[in-house]
Amino acid sequence: MTSEEIKAEYSMRDILIKCGLSQPNRKGFISCPFHKEKTASMKIYEKDYNCFGCGANGDIFTFIQQFYGIPFREAFLMLGGTYEHEKAKDRFAIYHAKKAQEMRKKQEEKDRMKRKLNNDLIDIYRDWIAKSDPLSQTWCDCYNALQIELYHHEILNEKRTGS
Ligand SMILES: [Zn+2]
Repeated sequence: MTSEEIKAEYSMRDILIKCGLSQPNRKGFISCPFHKEKTASMKIYEKDYNCFGCGANGDIFTFIQQFYGIPFREAFLMLGGTYEHEKAKDRFAIYHAKKAQEMRKKQEEKDRMKRKLNNDLIDIYRDWIAKSDPLSQTWCDCYNALQIELYHHEILNEKRTGS
């Protein structure tokens, strides 16, 4: 949220609740948390406050800043504020994820091609084994090559189910 959005979102009454303070009396006053007093002299408006005792005044941000003794940035973040450069970091994460997905798709495509080639070779070798005389040179070569491809086949498909 931007500071304008935060201001639109929270009233001074919401801020009092967040700070653990009691709500304004019927006249709209609270005991000022910024100076010692017996009678409530801090007027609470919708989005602002003003103490007639010590002069403390401001908006929802300065109230939190004064109450906790913190800089604006902290009060802003406490109320759900976000900074532009932090959004930029988020954009980075988005593009980083996109890039990773692209790389994964490319790798998957590569693996798919490998599996296809592997399946084709297995078919070809089986075909040659069936067509050639058992234990002939061609048969032996194809048989050995087939064992290698079957081994590759196992690895390629293990990787697939594993991922
Ligand atoms: Zn005061």
